[in-house]
Amino acid sequence: MHEMAIAEGILDIALDHARTHAAQRIERIHLLLGELSGVETEALSLAFSSVIRGTIAENAALTWERVPFTGRCHDCGRERRIRPADYLCPDCGGGMEIIGGREMRVDYIEME
Ligand SMILES: [Zn+2]
Repeated sequence: MHEMAIAEGILDIALDHARTHAAQRIERIHLLLGELSGVETEALSLAFSSVIRGTIAENAALTWERVPFTGRCHDCGRERRIRPADYLCPDCGGGMEIIGGREMRVDYIEME
């Protein structure tokens, strides 16, 4: 299962981080999930609650925020939400360079 691998990756990052800072307990892991990252959050929560068992992250909360699919226009330079249908700037019709919406990463970790 895709989400199980993601959950293990997240836990690894958190445990590494905790080791570096000599933390005793991980309390929260906050993620940035792009609109187009394809992560199924319900499946991810489930997978996460199973991989943290027996670790110092056992009671950690997994939280996230969705990052909208956004781009910067090559022509006018504006940053806009991209309409996946055409990838064109809503203001001038120029091509958009993707600057957000595909990420799947740990934003911050709260520990004790
Ligand atoms: Zn434009």
